[in-house]
Amino acid sequence: MSGMFADVIVDISHEKLDRTFQYLVPEELAGEVKPGAVVQVPFGKGSRLTKGYVLKVTDTPQYDLAKMKEIREVLTDSSRSTCEDRLVALAAWMRGVYGSTMIQALKTVLPVKKKMRQKEKKSVRLLLEPGEARGKLAYYEKKNQRARFRLLEALLEEGEIPYEIVTEKLNISSASIRGMEEQGVLEIRAVPVYRNPVRGIAGPGAGTELNAEQQKIVDDILCRWDDPACRVSLLYGVTGSGKTEVYMEVIDSAVRKGRQAIVLIPEIALTYQTVMRFYRRFGDRISIMHSRLSDGERYDQFQRAKNGDIDVMIGPRSALFTPFPNLGLIVIDEEHEATYQSESAPRYHARETAIHRAELENARVILGSATPSLEAYSRALSGEYRLYVLKNRARNSRLPRAVVADMRKELLEGNRSILGKTLHSEMEKRLARGEQTMLFLNRRGYSGFLSCRSCGHVIMCPHCDVSLSLHNDNRLVCHYCGHREPKPVRCPVCGSGYIGAFGVGTQQVQELVQREFPQARVLRMDLDTTRGKDGHEKILAAFANQEADILIGTQMIVKGHDFPNVTLVGILAADLSLYADDYRASERTFQLLAQAAGRAGRGETEGLVVIQTYDPEHYCIRTAAAQDYGAFYEEEMSYRLVAGYPPARRLLSIHGIGRDEAHLQTAMEYLKRLILKIYKNHEGNVIGPADESIAKIQEMYRKVIYVKADTARELSAIKDRLEQYMEANEGYRSVNIQFNAE
Ligand code: ADP
Ligand code: ZN
Ligand code: ZN
Repeated sequence: MSGMFADVIVDISHEKLDRTFQYLVPEELAGEVKPGAVVQVPFGKGSRLTKGYVLKVTDTPQYDLAKMKEIREVLTDSSRSTCEDRLVALAAWMRGVYGSTMIQALKTVLPVKKKMRQKEKKSVRLLLEPGEARGKLAYYEKKNQRARFRLLEALLEEGEIPYEIVTEKLNISSASIRGMEEQGVLEIRAVPVYRNPVRGIAGPGAGTELNAEQQKIVDDILCRWDDPACRVSLLYGVTGSGKTEVYMEVIDSAVRKGRQAIVLIPEIALTYQTVMRFYRRFGDRISIMHSRLSDGERYDQFQRAKNGDIDVMIGPRSALFTPFPNLGLIVIDEEHEATYQSESAPRYHARETAIHRAELENARVILGSATPSLEAYSRALSGEYRLYVLKNRARNSRLPRAVVADMRKELLEGNRSILGKTLHSEMEKRLARGEQTMLFLNRRGYSGFLSCRSCGHVIMCPHCDVSLSLHNDNRLVCHYCGHREPKPVRCPVCGSGYIGAFGVGTQQVQELVQREFPQARVLRMDLDTTRGKDGHEKILAAFANQEADILIGTQMIVKGHDFPNVTLVGILAADLSLYADDYRASERTFQLLAQAAGRAGRGETEGLVVIQTYDPEHYCIRTAAAQDYGAFYEEEMSYRLVAGYPPARRLLSIHGIGRDEAHLQTAMEYLKRLILKIYKNHEGNVIGPADESIAKIQEMYRKVIYVKADTARELSAIKDRLEQYMEANEGYRSVNIQFNAE
């Protein structure tokens, strides 16, 4: 006997994954039995040999030793034939890298089985001849029946559209659909769920003919398909450069080889246009996931993938775990998006996890972005990923022109409005010409920092290079190291008394715009106006229908729909997110500005972007205005090197959550003490514990420790030691500790 015991789970489709059985680990298997291993165990009364998965190995038995059975065999990697085996291995890897329990990791990768009523799926099919339909279309337009117009227009193009896409992505109410059914324009058809809901719809169709730039990239990816050194590619191309066409071509080729593909797209960017492009190309072989699916629906979708009913799964982060039998390709569009990082344990990053899954299943990964993350771009430059660049927009529409409006000057000239002179006069021109404007209020990472309206100075932490946040008690606090100081009355740089927290919201902007331009039709999109189901789709659809001249919003408006009639984008407070208390603040700001700018001039007319800022010389603003990612990358990377943040170095954050603040503080301090003891190179590399930027949520206190190191291995070793320590200490039962490795 090895003296070791393994907790084994024998039925992963069980609703209670937590049901484990303990087995003895025989001496000769001791080296191989570890979390994620696939084993043969005798099970039940007859001791029938059953396949099981090891969740945990310990040296303390929990059952009567005399009754405990022994693991028979460890199935080696080559026998990992089922998709579940590989997903369990992936979960074990996630547990090891991101720190969580094996159960949490398993629940993340395996859908919970739920008994589902056999539901029927519906689709909407056009009944009219094209000529008739066009007559009806003109009628709807005359009557200003916009929803019906929009649906008929889509049906003319597609013939038949899944019901849920009509309601969710096109935002047509079921009343409108029924109305059109009564008029004999369309019919609603029911399709049993296990038949594909979109059978019979156009497709699979041929793709757009690629231009030379795109074709070269596709050819290169395909000709290196079997080279493991080229497993990961980064496709860096400005918005509208035709990345999606490249993905579809490569997916098509994988599917022809009998393999399947997963396409990750941030949920907010998963619009009707995008979804229909994939339907048009792959017809009924695709399926779409979104976060509002119930467990049962998600299970159903995964079942279809497992059964081979579909080839392509499109969805947000969680679609990464689609159990395809022969996965060939994972595409991650908008790879830089923060939503690819999970916020609950295991706090996995979809990019890293996708790459690991691809290694386990011998698949390829394509990352795509107009503003790649520093991680991805630095790895592409170093040759770890293969870099492909699309330099031009595919349809020859030019990138918009950008001007920087210096709001300090405006202030000097007596203009204290949030709309500067340039932006104001450009908006006037757009209204006169019947073109549309988008106003983007940057509030990302907004945490109540203090800035000087006269010189733009922001009060920073003397130790951390992040802005201090204003708390209710009128003190400034650093959320990284806990530094505190009183709020100054005058700007420490120029002495101006105009110093305060930026306090403008979208609603105030809307009121102002309405006052300045009484004739304009104004729409607002923010958390308040989008609360209902599909709230933001509705607003975007209305704007796309030109039901408004001006759309005001937060970061929500910078993604998704194409608005060909938008020729002006105004960015208010471009620098607001520069001082978020996060080392990625500049990177996020650059991405937002570049994306917001990319909204202008998608149609025939050249677009203009006005970037209003109190800090026009900041490299982030300058490079975003010049749409020069390369220059931004160089500057930002040199800061990361100096400050020791990823990707220059590696960072482990240890997040603690607890109801009792003093107890949490003690628990975190003990962790820090242990880190200092085991980490030789700790000088200046261990920061905290300090409050998180939101120090308390729903009566739970939140604290964080940061550990920097040169290699992921060092951090992983530290994490393992901390996990062992916490397991052996009672005090950690009442706090929740999560790890996040970057
Ligand atoms: P991205 O994914 O990089 O934003 P898209 O693939 O969405 O770019 O392409 C932008 C627009 O250009 C789309 O309307 C697309 O249909 C069109 N497009 C892309 N490639 C081509 C091509 N080779 N020929 C014509 N139009 C193209
Ligand atoms: Zn600090
Ligand atoms: Zn000042």
